[in-house]
Amino acid sequence: MKRCPRCGKQVDEEMIICPSCAERLQDPKTQTKTEFVNVHLVRWLLFVALVLPLVGFIIAVSFRKKYPIISKEISKFSTFGVALLAMLFILGVVCYIAMILTGVAFL
Ligand SMILES: [Zn+2]
Repeated sequence: MKRCPRCGKQVDEEMIICPSCAERLQDPKTQTKTEFVNVHLVRWLLFVALVLPLVGFIIAVSFRKKYPIISKEISKFSTFGVALLAMLFILGVVCYIAMILTGVAFL
């Protein structure tokens, strides 16, 4: 048995809508957690994708004169960041399409 978050009445585990107040009852174990993970994963990836090329570029520029070899390696690293950003953009588009189809907000 679980409790309705709106009226507090005991409702059956399988119930989707509360029989007494018609509140939509979502399973917090499955849906909310999945959404939570998705939101944080996407935000973290977005952060990394935005910061990584920027930091890489700054380091590459400042290292160019002193350490040309290291600078070249970091440039590769920041290129990876740009590629990640592109992949994230695709992921964002896929999420957006999935969001429209399923009605669940990922972002
Ligand atoms: Zn209720």
